[in-house]
Amino acid sequence: GLPTAPARPLAVRRPSRRIQVGPVPVGGDAPVSVQSMTTTVTADVGATLQQIAELTAAGCQIVRVACPTQDDADALPVIAKKSRIPVIADIHFQPKYVFAAIDAGCAAVRVNPGNIRQFDDKVKEIARAASAAGTPIRIGVNAGSLDRRLLQKYGKATPEALVESALWEASLFEEHGFRDIKISVKHNDPVVMVNAYRRLAAQCDYPLHLGVTEAGPAFQGTIKSAVAFGALLSEGIGDTIRVSLSAPPAEEIKVGIQILESLNLRRRRLEIVSCPSCGRAQVDVYKLADQVTAGLEGMEVPLRVAVMGCVVNGPGEAREADLGVASGNGKGQIFVKGEVIKTVPESKIVETLIDEALKLAEQMEKDGALS
Ligand code: SF4
Repeated sequence: GLPTAPARPLAVRRPSRRIQVGPVPVGGDAPVSVQSMTTTVTADVGATLQQIAELTAAGCQIVRVACPTQDDADALPVIAKKSRIPVIADIHFQPKYVFAAIDAGCAAVRVNPGNIRQFDDKVKEIARAASAAGTPIRIGVNAGSLDRRLLQKYGKATPEALVESALWEASLFEEHGFRDIKISVKHNDPVVMVNAYRRLAAQCDYPLHLGVTEAGPAFQGTIKSAVAFGALLSEGIGDTIRVSLSAPPAEEIKVGIQILESLNLRRRRLEIVSCPSCGRAQVDVYKLADQVTAGLEGMEVPLRVAVMGCVVNGPGEAREADLGVASGNGKGQIFVKGEVIKTVPESKIVETLIDEALKLAEQMEKDGALS
């Protein structure tokens, strides 16, 4: 059989209560899930369902939709019914939309009871309705919308302020015996965010939804999220993640999945081990790596394919991988499971690697490496 590295994460998970977001468990020892949020107008049911389908195809496990108006609330039953992944309604201020979302069959609601209390004491009714329907609630504290009282007390959205706000929000539900809660304390600064989640993790056992809010365009947002989530997840903190990018939401899912795979919190799929190239390279490594990546896109088996520019580190890395090439002198030595199986001219490297990868994948499926 082929070696499939056991997933060994960096840390023991922080113990947390488990909640159910539709069919997806969050917290406890449930795998860390990846979620995103639609960018369509929710009331536009067709466009919203189309985007949810794209997110689902990208691997999204939970999707959130904004619900700022009655038209959006009216769209929730169809969206919740037709989506193949659980839908969370994101609500600010309006208790009536919370009831609508619960009645619509949304898998969860994101709402801060502190917002609602200012208008009307509906928190008890929400707790009762959510409890009866088995609908969990996310309390989402965000640096940008921290309540005035805490801003005055702390001067700005410090980790202490975010955590105090979150625990106060949770206490408004706890008063009514409702604990089916997950919490986020988002900030755009990864350092503040990491400190906030660390504090929160130490002070409650609710499952945590990780997010760096307003993380920015794709490149910056990817790095901020990877660094912050990496720090927390490596300490066992975090039960579900949302990467926020100023980019199409399917990109958020790609990044989220890659973060979990990098930390061994999820089985790795195809992995290309390619060298950065240097003055010794005797082949165009970037082009080769891109072509191999494109040729194997969508492959689900945990295959490591090494694409190396020369014979210095090439044979070593190629040998460690399931499959690889070390190039030199216009030729490529093709390795499978550590053995050179053939040497091909440079023009044949890509097709040979793809051929061999498909053969290995077939073998892995036969051996049940995926079960
Ligand atoms: Fe340079 Fe060779 Fe290492 Fe690639 S494998 S970075 S070409 S020394």
